[in-house]
Amino acid sequence: MNEIKHLERIKTFLHELEAGRIQSTGATVVDFAGVLYNVDGSSDDPKRIPDHNGENWKPLLVAFGIDHDCYVTNAVPAPGASHPAGWLGGHMTTNANGQVANGGTCYLMPLCSWHNSTSRNGVAFAHTETRMLELTGYNLGELPVTFALRLPSEMPFAVLFYENDEWKFKNISHNEAIKLKSSVHKLSSIQPVEHYVLIERKWDDRTTYHALASTLPGA
Ligand SMILES: [Zn+2]
Repeated sequence: MNEIKHLERIKTFLHELEAGRIQSTGATVVDFAGVLYNVDGSSDDPKRIPDHNGENWKPLLVAFGIDHDCYVTNAVPAPGASHPAGWLGGHMTTNANGQVANGGTCYLMPLCSWHNSTSRNGVAFAHTETRMLELTGYNLGELPVTFALRLPSEMPFAVLFYENDEWKFKNISHNEAIKLKSSVHKLSSIQPVEHYVLIERKWDDRTTYHALASTLPGA
């Protein structure tokens, strides 16, 4: 059987969901001009994708109209390094120690892989471009897909599924959720979907999430 990428992190996410420790997230476009530091621990599984940490956070920035080379104007590498092109979504904080509380607030801005490196942790980054995303409800080390799944939606259900070696999600209606078992093939035009989790949103004084059905191995 092929290895399922990020399976342990998906299971951890579901475990936290069941424990009620997971809250909704937010992504808001803001202008922030102060110095920023790399978030310590935000790397996206560096062993698996060296030098591409956080690359899949980039679509979130692009979706909010932020599409720009690396913002950092100081501590630049010698010519020939990756800066400023080849940017990705870098998690930033105003805390020099790089710490963000689980469920806390941080910033997401265009950052090259050179500045995103853990060897630049603790370095105060200056920048003249100020448009960035303020992320709320962010958990250290979490996958972009589970963060995005918890962004506000009017749909009462979401289905998290594995396709083409990637975890993806789709917000769905009550009717689609009821028919999911028989219509799971419609989630993918590429391949049969074997692994999915159906998640229900409930709105009380806050949004909570409940895993209703899961086809994860060993779950
Ligand atoms: Zn850079």
